[in-house]
Amino acid sequence: MKIYNTLSGRKEEFVPIEEGKVSMYVCGPTVYNLIHIGNARPMLIFDTVRRYMEYKGLEVNYVSNFTDVDDKIIKKAVEEGVDASVISERYIAECKKDMEGMNVKPATTHPLATQEIGGMLEMIETLIEKGHAYRGADGTVYFRTRSFKGYGKLSHKNLDDLQGGNRSLLVSGEDQKEDPLDFVLWKPKKEGEPYWESPWCDGRPGWHIECSVMSKKYLGEEIDIHAGGEDLIFPHHENEIAQSEAANGKPFAHYWMHNAFLNIDNKKMSKSAGNFFTVRDISEKYDLQVLRFFMLSAHYRSPLNFSAELMQAAQNGYDRIVTAVENLNFLMESAKAEEESAREKELEEQAKAYVAKFEDAMEDDFNTADALAAIFELVKFVNTNTDGESTKAYLQALKNEITMLTDICGLIVEKKQELLPEDIEALIQERQDARKAKDFARADEIRNELLEKGIVLEDTREGVKWKRA
Ligand code: AMP
Ligand code: ZN
Repeated sequence: MKIYNTLSGRKEEFVPIEEGKVSMYVCGPTVYNLIHIGNARPMLIFDTVRRYMEYKGLEVNYVSNFTDVDDKIIKKAVEEGVDASVISERYIAECKKDMEGMNVKPATTHPLATQEIGGMLEMIETLIEKGHAYRGADGTVYFRTRSFKGYGKLSHKNLDDLQGGNRSLLVSGEDQKEDPLDFVLWKPKKEGEPYWESPWCDGRPGWHIECSVMSKKYLGEEIDIHAGGEDLIFPHHENEIAQSEAANGKPFAHYWMHNAFLNIDNKKMSKSAGNFFTVRDISEKYDLQVLRFFMLSAHYRSPLNFSAELMQAAQNGYDRIVTAVENLNFLMESAKAEEESAREKELEEQAKAYVAKFEDAMEDDFNTADALAAIFELVKFVNTNTDGESTKAYLQALKNEITMLTDICGLIVEKKQELLPEDIEALIQERQDARKAKDFARADEIRNELLEKGIVLEDTREGVKWKRA
């Protein structure tokens, strides 16, 4: 499996720290609003990376934070006259709804910045002790950027160029900095803002420290993959490396993955320019599976343009796969339960070539565009090599192959049929009858059929109960 590593600037073979396991941290959104479709890109891409790794048998510990204390959250809280936590909790809940709609798996852990302040105080203390940080007159704590020798290694920036070229770093109010390159680890509270006590002043953390701390707590000092959008390379990820490596004395993340930006109609997405969509906006017009398909239709390191035409193309592509699966289901309903013919076995073998093609694309730095192309080739093969004469086993095998690949992409191509309570009760009765007649195969079949439709059966002393999974 090859991954393009921003740190080295090239594709590298992926070798996890611990065999069979992957530790992965993905910078999550700041929760002050509904997430926009730009935020959805890293969520969908890295969820797909995770799914592919799991398919390959790797155990992925996936951590993605919610930044729940920040100027924008506080501003909104002031506007609404509520506590900042009201805003962050509201938008975390909304974000989780959008993630569910896009079929993004919940992370192993979704830490919140406000719940990890203790760890941040500890890391800042360590940095001060080691001479990598200092307290300014008003209690602000700064990271002493030049004290960390590797600064600039991720963004491939040279410290002196940064200082000369980036005058905006020399902003007013920051004259207590020893060096304009130094960045904030802890800052004093302002009137009406949430704050925490610290040895330096009552205040709150700077932007970057939370990820260093949460990554260490949930994944360890040295991790496999750290990811996010390319805007985070500098300064956020550069600063995370400086904090973590200076505090822990170990390399931080082995692989740094960054997705390119999503633009709208070839322009930068911007609220003021009126070309801005939330995931919720999109969900009013399209199934969010179409948005997912659209995001995967380009390589994650290429800029992706969003437009009505391209979404229509995504809709057509997605529908093509859904229709193929529907056709297989239809054929299966009346298909013969005979053994597969020799010809079918041969075709089934041939179809495996598309799985290999899909895997090759994914192994090459997660080329989802080529991976989707392999699924289309498989769909075409299935459409031309199935008919009313096909056996059930053969049709099922082909369907399994398509859904195995779409599952890796996180694409739901088969809608669960809604079952009414009467239907469920009727099936439960049929299962009971089958059990009485010692037809356990049929009884198990019904249990599985219900499970596939999201109904879990429980055999209790009072009889069989059911609940939605
Ligand atoms: P933020 O809430 O701004 O910190 O962003 C959360 C995540 O979304 C980060 O990984 C960003 O890099 C990413 N992101 C923000 N805007 C876009 C965009 N237009 N295209 C792709 N990724 C984006
Ligand atoms: Zn981060």
